[in-house]
Amino acid sequence: MAFLRPDIIRPPSEWKSYFLPLTSGCSNNTCTFCNYFGSTLRLRDPGEAMQEIDALALYKKHGVTLQSISYIVYAVARNWDGKRVFLQDGDALVYPFPKLKSVLEHLNEKFPNLDRVSAYATAKDILRREVQELKQLKDLKLSFLYMGVESGDDEILKRVRKRATYVEMVEAAHKAKEAGIGLSATIILGLGGVENSRKHALSCARILSDMDPEFAAALTLIIVPGTPMEEEIKRGDFHLITPFESLEELKLIIENANFTNCFFTSMHASNYLPVRVRLPEEKNKIIKDLESILAKKDPSLLKPEYFRAL
Ligand code: SF4
Repeated sequence: MAFLRPDIIRPPSEWKSYFLPLTSGCSNNTCTFCNYFGSTLRLRDPGEAMQEIDALALYKKHGVTLQSISYIVYAVARNWDGKRVFLQDGDALVYPFPKLKSVLEHLNEKFPNLDRVSAYATAKDILRREVQELKQLKDLKLSFLYMGVESGDDEILKRVRKRATYVEMVEAAHKAKEAGIGLSATIILGLGGVENSRKHALSCARILSDMDPEFAAALTLIIVPGTPMEEEIKRGDFHLITPFESLEELKLIIENANFTNCFFTSMHASNYLPVRVRLPEEKNKIIKDLESILAKKDPSLLKPEYFRAL
């Protein structure tokens, strides 16, 4: 079956990147809250990815466009500064190692001045690679990975069918670090529902501390239509926390997490309050800010529901 270019789903910090699809879908398509739920993982032919890299180079160096190449390539390339590439899709690190290596080699050959290549990765994608392999990828500038941790509580992870455990995710983070690859770990506020809100937040603080990534980000649960989680809510088996409860979770996480040096954000469009802090340096300040907002409980301080998005 022909490879269909996936929609662009990317971390907020990749807004300046060129988006190069190597896969579509996610190898772990079972998470009950995710828009990749039930998606079919497809792998792009490496030759096709390399053709796109050639076309991109031709366009950026000489302004030449080819009819055989998707208009999206040129639409994304127009404002691209040639520095960063984000490999799509849901977990591009699942792409077989020899193929990934050849595509990265080709990318480096055509764009020798690239700063970095990044991708989403599951814990299993990292764990199935040898440290030596990860180091080779790092040398080819695949130097940053985004891992969706979601929660540190194994019961919650099981309930949302994440198919990854606390231990696996911490191990994967350490392995990436050993290879010199930077990591951003993401958790989801509200994923434990009302019943497990505190337990979820404390478990997020614990796992983030054990992973000790350079970057950590909080998203806030948004219910995607057609997912099992939507069904759970309709049946009354899962109860969403309120916007201010999501800030309580955020505060608990920041209060209880211990990082060596982490840039912690909640800049994703799903959040009710954008936060950008360097931890531990700014811990006390951000906790005070959150306490003040929580004391006022003024909804105008939060992002309106209709502005939230995935
Ligand atoms: S949450 Fe991550 S691992 Fe789970 S289905 Fe979505 S993209 Fe895949």
